[in-house]
Amino acid sequence: MAAKVIDGKAFAATVREKVASHVTRLKEENGITPGLAVVLVGEDPASQVYVRSKGKQTVEVGMNSYEHKLDASTSEADLLALIDKLNNDPAVHGILVQLPLPSHLNSDLVINSIDPAKDVDGFHISNVGLLGTGQKAMVPCTPLGCLMMLRDYHGSLSGMNAVVIGRSNIVGKPMANLLLGDSCTVTIAHSRTKDLAAVVRQADIVVAAVGRPEMVHGDWIKEGATVIDVGINRVDAGEGKTRLVGDVHYESASAVAGAITPVPGGVGPMTIACLLANTLTACCRANGLAEPEGLTA
Ligand code: NAD
Repeated sequence: MAAKVIDGKAFAATVREKVASHVTRLKEENGITPGLAVVLVGEDPASQVYVRSKGKQTVEVGMNSYEHKLDASTSEADLLALIDKLNNDPAVHGILVQLPLPSHLNSDLVINSIDPAKDVDGFHISNVGLLGTGQKAMVPCTPLGCLMMLRDYHGSLSGMNAVVIGRSNIVGKPMANLLLGDSCTVTIAHSRTKDLAAVVRQADIVVAAVGRPEMVHGDWIKEGATVIDVGINRVDAGEGKTRLVGDVHYESASAVAGAITPVPGGVGPMTIACLLANTLTACCRANGLAEPEGLTA
């Protein structure tokens, strides 16, 4: 039987609606408007597209968007001074520094200069530690989106075997920690894993975050498993055109899986929706207000 398609685009729309209605309440009842500051250094075309999209969606849910576009040659001292200003600005509840940064800037230093309470990307070392120890953290947006879709589809994830392919700090590791937090038995696979297909065949939940087009084939998937495809890979579609594919071979995997996220339209749209959710959460925490239900880990 063909797998159920987990529609990330539709799910992201419901997340944005929840955020927007909570923002309306915050404005009416508390006179507070959540604010997200996005800092872009340089002119990387993909980053410019992301930043535009983030700013647009921030405004659409009723939040304030503050965009700071800095020259590619901006010094580390100037960037740190801007972050310090944003850390101390009460109108700013979330700060995101768009990565990658130009090579003369130390990304770790820059990210760790953000106030952890405003670190809506969840990359600050304090938030990594809080998540790793099962404490309340700001959680990286992409894995948070995956977790929301898994919880929505399964209800409880307790006791399920989860295999996360990829061990990056942005996706793989925080994803594994979140699944552990929901009482899955978690395996993290990576480029040195032996017999990856056999490891993946054990999984009730597969999260693929590798960056290799269509690497995970249907014969790696256990019958009825849930497959979350984080990969975004642009491949040649002939006649000078390109198309997006995930890390999972969709056609063969969807013939075996119980549920699967497509690419595009799966994990991708959830990432910005979770950024908005994190900004709202940060705003509520900063003001000692109840956090929005269903929008945090
Ligand atoms: P990364 O390059 O930082 O990490 C990739 C991981 O895959 C590494 O840990 C590596 O060990 C593992 N890997 C590489 N080759 C492998 C192999 N042959 N077998 C098993 N494991 C292997 O990438 P990332 O930042 O984690 O991103 C992964 C993918 O997810 C990329 O396609 C990226 O574009 C996509 N992504 C999507 C979103 C989204 O919003 N949907 C967000 C972030 C990343």
